[in-house]
Amino acid sequence: MFNFVCGYCKHVFSGYDSSIINVSEVMGCPNCGLSVRKADCDILVRPSSERYRDLDAVMSSSWFHFTFVDDWFNVVTGKGQLTPAVHVGTFDAAVERGRDAINYYDTPTNDLYEIRFKPGTKFDDLIHSDKENRWEERASDLPYDAARYVNKYESPGSISIICDPRVLEVVAVHNLPALTTPGQLATV
Ligand SMILES: [Zn+2]
Repeated sequence: MFNFVCGYCKHVFSGYDSSIINVSEVMGCPNCGLSVRKADCDILVRPSSERYRDLDAVMSSSWFHFTFVDDWFNVVTGKGQLTPAVHVGTFDAAVERGRDAINYYDTPTNDLYEIRFKPGTKFDDLIHSDKENRWEERASDLPYDAARYVNKYESPGSISIICDPRVLEVVAVHNLPALTTPGQLATV
């Protein structure tokens, strides 16, 4: 369930987002009674991620991806037609996800990728309420280079991005356990 904000009366109500591709789907607002298109609703975003409603802020910020996969970026970008769509998120969300994961698995690779979007990356204007399964398979399935969504599970309310990895460039690869705050990145 997600909290939507009615595009007409600004009432906040819960709903289930079954599709982020079909944004023309309508929902009934329980307050004003109007049928509102998902595309005309806003969704609640954590205050810490509010700045990412602005695509300039998205483009000028670092994003993060945690992985156990050795040489992850070259692996995902080297698959040609089979290039998978990948997910990146805020520093806090990626570290939270990584810390949870390394409590369960003992692997030699615990990499936190710091990445940026290449100039000219085409984003969907909408912020979606979760990733959509149909988007997960291939980068070529994405209707845009990248789209923002609010994660349903870890860090609900924070913004994540699903994208074609070929629109990313790696700034640095950090060892997760060495990090505690974004401020430490400069000294890693
Ligand atoms: Zn309403």
